[in-house]
Amino acid sequence: MVQRTLAIIKPDSVEKKVIGEIIKRIEEAGFKILAMKYTKLTEEQAKSFYEIHKDKPFYNDLVKYMTSGPIVPIALEKENAVEEFRTLIGSTDPTKAEEGTIRKLFGTNIERNAIHGSDSPENGEKEVLFFFSKSEIVYNY
Ligand code: UDP
Ligand code: MG
Repeated sequence: MVQRTLAIIKPDSVEKKVIGEIIKRIEEAGFKILAMKYTKLTEEQAKSFYEIHKDKPFYNDLVKYMTSGPIVPIALEKENAVEEFRTLIGSTDPTKAEEGTIRKLFGTNIERNAIHGSDSPENGEKEVLFFFSKSEIVYNY
């Protein structure tokens, strides 16, 4: 099944100047880029994006971190995209992530973990539309 998933290159990666390193790995893994932008979340947007975690102890810090600097959201498409992208990025905690994964390579800690990946095909669709309108999605290559 061809699926969509949302990647977000998080503020720690932008600060470390590894946007290119990360996109290179995404391209090499065979993901098709449908849309991409360089932007910054407002507090309201970050709260809404991570609403599912609103009762977690890490929520307020997560919102602070995700609004602390620019991010690069990227809409991706591939066969089995959600699971394959989660494999490419590795576990939430970079110290526990598999060797060679994006979080292992570029993450700092369980909060500042370099990159986001959607957790289900439904959320992949939903999260892509959080950042990109249908007219911003490019199909023709
Ligand atoms: N997070 C955190 N502390 C935790 C767990 C998660 O700060 O104990 C942050 C981290 O940036 C993570 C995000 O909250 O990527 C969302 O958490 P989730 O459990 O959905 O992890 P993910 O799906 O990103 O691996
Ligand atoms: Mg998640």
